[in-house]
Amino acid sequence: MKLPESIRVIERGWLSANNVVLHERGEAVVVDSGYGAHAAQTLALLETALRDRQLDRLVNTHCHSDHMGGNAAIQRKFGCRTSIPEGEAPLIERWDEQALLLAIADQRAERFRYDDTFRDGDTLRMGGLDWRVIAAPGHDTHAVMFHSPEARVLISGDALWENGFGVVFPQLFGRDTALAETRATLDAIARLEVDTVIPGHGRPFGGAGAALERAFYRLEGYEEDITRLARHCAKVMLSFSLLEKRSMPLAELPDYVARVPILAELNSRYLRMTPAEMAEWLVSELERAGAARREQGLLLARGD
Ligand SMILES: [Zn+2]
Repeated sequence: MKLPESIRVIERGWLSANNVVLHERGEAVVVDSGYGAHAAQTLALLETALRDRQLDRLVNTHCHSDHMGGNAAIQRKFGCRTSIPEGEAPLIERWDEQALLLAIADQRAERFRYDDTFRDGDTLRMGGLDWRVIAAPGHDTHAVMFHSPEARVLISGDALWENGFGVVFPQLFGRDTALAETRATLDAIARLEVDTVIPGHGRPFGGAGAALERAFYRLEGYEEDITRLARHCAKVMLSFSLLEKRSMPLAELPDYVARVPILAELNSRYLRMTPAEMAEWLVSELERAGAARREQGLLLARGD
């Protein structure tokens, strides 16, 4: 993959978003900080990637727990300046657990402070390159991407992955323009000159064309039938919880899906199953996708 030498991608998994380290001379910037439970690992990976450079600035594509969960730990260790998208600032200021999808999604993040904000149309200097800030509403209304026309690289966050994009949460919970915003964001990517996409999850990939085609196809499915998005969202939420907990007692899952607000709301609005039915359906879907397996009364995450 053709990336400038000043860009180093620390590829993580699904619980923690990738960290992108951009360096210029003795200073460095990191984009996104991973999930809180991984903070120690994130610090260690960053230290290795930075070598003797100073971490000057931490920047977030958006403020979901898997992208900003390590912010507080990074600030403590490196004392760096922290910059977030303008639209996220009020949520971070009042630490809006609901809008940040924390407790209501059974997710956690340590509260952090920010120093400044950026918005669509701004230019950020990172790794010796000028990056244009591009609004990327859809998955998160306030999310942004960073595009370097010179390097022809796009840091896409959760707006575009090699296979899909982040769950369009707002559409499911009251913002009925979010699928249209997702489409506009994908259209905006299609207009950019891009050789390499650095996504929030998964490896960097070449070009955006094939990924965009897959993304538009997926989006059309949601536009046709919103319950597809609701089912996808429920699976993603449980997978994420399972990745954090590594195992969950099967007998407790009906109570879990009834108790975690985002799952309960998906069920009452779209799925309309009993908690026991929803739990069983989710487990079989995760098994089918190879994301989990049952063993001795437990649901185990892949790899355990
Ligand atoms: Zn996200």
